[in-house]
Amino acid sequence: MELDENIARIRSALAAAALAAGRRPEDVLLVAATKMNDAERVRRAIAAGVDACGENRVQELLEKQSQGAYAGAPLHFIGHLQRNKVRQIVGLVSLIHSADSVALLEEIDRCAGKKGLVQDVLLEINIAGEAAKSGFAPEELPAALEAAARLPSVRVRGLMAIPPICVSGDENRPYFTKMQQLFVDNGEKKYDNVSMDFLSMGMSGDYLAAVACGANMVRIGSAIFGPRQYPDHNSGGIANGLPG
Ligand SMILES: *Cc1c(COP(=O)(O)O)cnc(C)c1O
Repeated sequence: MELDENIARIRSALAAAALAAGRRPEDVLLVAATKMNDAERVRRAIAAGVDACGENRVQELLEKQSQGAYAGAPLHFIGHLQRNKVRQIVGLVSLIHSADSVALLEEIDRCAGKKGLVQDVLLEINIAGEAAKSGFAPEELPAALEAAARLPSVRVRGLMAIPPICVSGDENRPYFTKMQQLFVDNGEKKYDNVSMDFLSMGMSGDYLAAVACGANMVRIGSAIFGPRQYPDHNSGGIANGLPG
């Protein structure tokens, strides 16, 4: 099956990149970016051995969750999260990659506290300073970590970035390198409720460069599932994600 072959190919490329970067292959986690793929295809990706599934829209996540799409794999949230939707996913996902403001962290803390749990999050960094993207500016990171340290129901587990779309993966190396620097520098300081374990960066077009620069969590969609088929204006549903 094409999907299984894609995952096997990505796995071996990831393993080689990890070894070349002086790390163990099992220390680099493969998160399947499952948006626009239906529950059946998500289940196939899990059966083929991805480490987690990442969704980027709350509505789609809840719909597919109710269809049993994610059984057997941790579920992550990787997209932009609106504050009024936090309640719906806190505790349901094991990691939110995209905490991009102190106000959002406070809302996650409030909802997690109410449910009596601690929510793991990554802080999203707008590493290329793009106006259209959310995330903390690199210089805002220390203050964000201090804010998170005061929130008992949030635990920061690392950093995440979405650099610009690139033609070749190597174009993003300067951004990946800056992220690794932030990850290492801020990991050395001791904050309550913060442990810098995960550096989430690298997508289908640039994941090998990301791993070479220190990523230990990559989020891969189209290289696993094929090109996404976006629904046209006539269909409200989720496209099947099969190549068109
Ligand atoms: C869709 C998505 C990805 C994966 O993108 P591909 O280029 O298809 O691999 C990674 N991260 C986030 C936040 C996404 O929304």
